[in-house]
Amino acid sequence: MPCQLSLTQFIEVLAATPVNLSVPMTVNGVYGITTDTRNLEPGQIFLALRGETFDGHDYAEVAIKKGAIAVIANRDQGYHLQDIPQLQVDDTLQAYQQLARWWRDQFDIPVIAVTGSAGKTTTKELIAAVLSTQGNILKTQANYNNEIGVPKTLLELDSNHDYAVIEMAMRGSGQIALLTQIARPTIGVITNVGTAHIGLLGSEDAIAKAKCELLAQMPDTSMAILNHDNQRLMDTAATVWQGETLTFGLNGGDVQGKLIDLFRLMVDGITFPLPLPGEHNALNYLAALAVAKHLQIDWTPLRKGLSVQMSGGRSQRYELPNDIVILDETYNAGFEAMIAALHLLAQTPGKRHIAILGSMKELGDHSEQLHQQVGQKAQQLQLDAVFITLKDREAEAITRGISALPSEGFAEDDALVQHLTEFVQPGDRLLFKASRSVGLDRVLHQFRELM
Ligand code: ATP
Repeated sequence: MPCQLSLTQFIEVLAATPVNLSVPMTVNGVYGITTDTRNLEPGQIFLALRGETFDGHDYAEVAIKKGAIAVIANRDQGYHLQDIPQLQVDDTLQAYQQLARWWRDQFDIPVIAVTGSAGKTTTKELIAAVLSTQGNILKTQANYNNEIGVPKTLLELDSNHDYAVIEMAMRGSGQIALLTQIARPTIGVITNVGTAHIGLLGSEDAIAKAKCELLAQMPDTSMAILNHDNQRLMDTAATVWQGETLTFGLNGGDVQGKLIDLFRLMVDGITFPLPLPGEHNALNYLAALAVAKHLQIDWTPLRKGLSVQMSGGRSQRYELPNDIVILDETYNAGFEAMIAALHLLAQTPGKRHIAILGSMKELGDHSEQLHQQVGQKAQQLQLDAVFITLKDREAEAITRGISALPSEGFAEDDALVQHLTEFVQPGDRLLFKASRSVGLDRVLHQFRELM
């Protein structure tokens, strides 16, 4: 059972003040909790969160009508919710986090936290897939990786779970620290540090420090699992973490792998099929193997391979008629992820290699330079063509990094799709990648419909 407590326990754990609670409903029951009236089940407690564009307190009456037994509400809302049974707290978000931390502490199982600039979701999925060979896993679903999503995930813990794999994302400093205090991981994995969200944090050093809050805040007895090949990460980690560490990498590390080809990795003389192709995914897989090593899980059965399905627009591959292969990376794009995907395209055997790119967001003052570097990388990898969606001006800088490749920008998606249908030939390999808000997934969708 996910988190279910008696009203008395809720009141104690949250230091809440009960208001308008009638006696009959307080006896004998244990109650689950939800923050969303849309999936509220009768008998649950509704916790009213205040967001930027919504206020859960506005749904308190709906919650009660749908059968919630009480609402956890901010004290300052009391007079609005006059007749509603409530547990009043100072701040409902903090209460939610406090509850999740308390609930997590009821379970003496390995809790693995994963953060990093790129590859968090993939590494979380790979770790979960490896650990699933040993027992029941709780893992972060969808993008529940922030100050609401991490508590939500932890509140799903139940006595059947043998491991929890928790993804932690951030958009500023202090956020990973908070998530770490809530999840109290026994193992902390940092995939890498790079430039994702540099527009928000200002510098790569600030990003590295923010990611390393995971190490600074996790219990001293925990294990750090770090990317040996990422020097900035290793340097920053050393300033905040003196506890046990296992490193992974392709250039060195305690768990060192050698890429045989896009789809195979050799570690300690054993060849593993890679669940997802490419050098970046090999590193993500090595992180998962390092977790397994620390937990004394035998790797050998993994020789048979693991199946890992990423959701829409991440590391997805479609085979079209006429031997045309599409690498769908339209879910999102940071700079390092863009470079990794270009490498994957260049290394994918095929006739011509064509990148269809859009801008990378949240790069602030670094935007022009990093977009140009993407263009330079495309050129250095000797791709056959680069086509760019120019719905925003940031992406134009990609073309400025390219001097000797066919490249062209398109202000209209329809024109880009039309051009692709004329340009693409049998045997071509195509990569589609941009930040989510660019909407390159729609271009890809239209193109596929026409092919
Ligand atoms: P987001 O914060 O956008 O959800 P994430 O950190 O969870 O990203 P993933 O969703 O795992 O990252 O991967 C997103 C993309 O980043 C992949 O499709 C791939 O292009 C790239 N990527 C994955 N792993 C790495 C890595 N280790 N290094 C660089 N790029 C990577």
